[in-house]
Formats: sequence, C-alpha cells, structure tokens
Amino acid sequence: MTIFEKIAAHEIPARIVCETDDFLAFHDVQPQAPVHILIVPKSPIPRIGEAQSGDADLLGRMLLAAPGIAAAAGVAETGYRLVINNGRDAGESVPHLHIHLLGGRSLQWPPG
Ligand code: AMP
Repeated sequence: MTIFEKIAAHEIPARIVCETDDFLAFHDVQPQAPVHILIVPKSPIPRIGEAQSGDADLLGRMLLAAPGIAAAAGVAETGYRLVINNGRDAGESVPHLHIHLLGGRSLQWPPG
C-alpha cells in the first residue's frame, strides 16, 4: 500500500479536511506554503500519466472540490495554485496521484 492508501484507510493519521467515498483531502506534513493540502483519490492511481479514461469522472470531481477546499482554508479570495507532479523531473515523491493545493503566500512563477 502507498502511504496515501494507508491514510485513506485511516491506518495512519492525517489532518483530513474533506472526505468522500472515493477521494479525500488532508494537510501536507511538510507544507511548502501556509496552506498546503493534498487532494488524493482513494484508489491508487500511480500518477496522472497512468490515469485511464475511466478515472475521468473521479479526477473531475477532485478538481471541482478544490475551490471549496480552498475557501474552507481561507485562500479562495487571495488565490491558490493546483499542482500535479508527474515523474522524476517534476519532483514526484509519492507514487499515488495527488493534487497539491497551495496558497496563503505569493507563489513564484515560473516554479523552481
Ligand atoms: P510529490 O512530491 O508531488 O509526490 O508530493 C508528495 C507530498 O506528500 C509531499 O509534499 C510530502 O510532504 C507529502 N507527504 C508525504 N507523506 C505524507 C503524509 N504522511 N501525510 C501528509 N503528507 C505527506
């Protein structure tokens, strides 16, 4: 099991902010911004590059959950960034698809 599968199964703790039947969102343990939340499918899709057409509805609902999660975290008005890292050069470290939601400070562009 990936670490995120264990969090989804409530086998290891996380600061969960939102949970549905097939995805959840929780605070990152090493936040890179004042608000850093991960939106994670419960099914272990390794990365966006391996998602299948059958995942489209789930992925769409995860994306559409982001504005509400951002609002609850207090960054809807100031702004936030959604990031998916895919592969080595992107810095992917957990092989279980997740959307980073970052906000609460001015984020640089282009990203480092
Ligand atoms: P990525 O580098 O895109 O694969 O992102 C993985 C993220 O998962 C990193 O930002 C880590 O800090 C975060 N992370 C790893 N383990 C945990 C955990 N147990 N709970 C919350 N976040 C975690």
